[in-house]
Amino acid sequence: MIEQIKERLAIVDLVSDHIPLRKVGRNFVGFCPFHPNTRTPAFTVFPETQSYHCFSCKKSGDIFTFLMEREGLEFGEALERLAARAGVTLHERTEREEREDATRARLLEVNAMAATFYAHLLRASPRGEAARLYVAARGLGENIVEVFQLGYAPPEWSALLAYLGERGVDPAEVEAAGLAIRRDDGGYYDRFRDRLLFPIHDSRGRVVGFGGRLLGDGHPKYLNSPQTSDLRQGQPALRPVPGARSDQARR
Ligand code: ZN
Repeated sequence: MIEQIKERLAIVDLVSDHIPLRKVGRNFVGFCPFHPNTRTPAFTVFPETQSYHCFSCKKSGDIFTFLMEREGLEFGEALERLAARAGVTLHERTEREEREDATRARLLEVNAMAATFYAHLLRASPRGEAARLYVAARGLGENIVEVFQLGYAPPEWSALLAYLGERGVDPAEVEAAGLAIRRDDGGYYDRFRDRLLFPIHDSRGRVVGFGGRLLGDGHPKYLNSPQTSDLRQGQPALRPVPGARSDQARR
């Protein structure tokens, strides 16, 4: 429900009801409503991540925290107000919805761990040497590698499965995330092998899938992880990771 409300309400509209905002580039700025200030507008609203941040008092959050802080509401009250505004009917969560949410959260967690593993291999592991050379030859600087969280899957059958297994992830969960394939005999193997990997992020910066380009010979040249459950809500895309250091690679 919270996601649904966030998708329907633009944070810029909500904040604009309270303070005047001015568009600067892709974002909006205004005087912070949470600390006294009249000189420099330090309050920035980011439409893409549906969030805000004040560079002076450091307050940050989303439409819910904004309304709660601004009007001194409890979360439940803010939820009711924003649900009404979004035209979303509130109802008790069913057991099935709770289960689906838990599954989705777990798959996102598995994806995030996989992205960390692959990124480490590309940046720092001896196993990623050939991939690093390929990336450099393609003119992709460290900057791009970091901002897009590029990674490398080594030419092994269970590198990712072993890494995630050590961190308590069941092979069936890796398969559910689209990152492993089940054999007829019941075993599993890594979907991505010897590939340069491009994590696909949703609008909130969460990894919802991967695209992989084969480095050696063979086919297919490009391989994507399958659409997994309903992880890919919104418009997934290759995006800079929020909070990544450099702005240079951003459009
Ligand atoms: Zn402030």
